[in-house]
Amino acid sequence: MTRETLDAKALRYIREGRLRVVLVDTEHIEARVRGTDTEHVTGYERGGWYCDCQAHQFGRRCSHLAALQLVTVRPEREYPADRARRAQRAPNGRAPTPCFGNADP
Ligand SMILES: [Zn+2]
Repeated sequence: MTRETLDAKALRYIREGRLRVVLVDTEHIEARVRGTDTEHVTGYERGGWYCDCQAHQFGRRCSHLAALQLVTVRPEREYPADRARRAQRAPNGRAPTPCFGNADP
């Protein structure tokens, strides 16, 4: 019998509609993931990911959080250096073109 990997399990949770994101703002994410037998509260708050399941309490990566991380990015506040670097990376010294949706060339 092959054991399902954590990432495969996370993908399955999404595919089966077991992940519900209930709250998102600039620095807080909260979701419910229906695991094998219970629903877990998982999310991101004050710079850290959390999950109320046992695996996470013991410091292990859990499939609930993995599922949530597949559909979210960390709040931007975590990446000030990255954003600054990206802004400077305009090719040939051209200013990055802002995207307003109707700016077809
Ligand atoms: Zn968990």
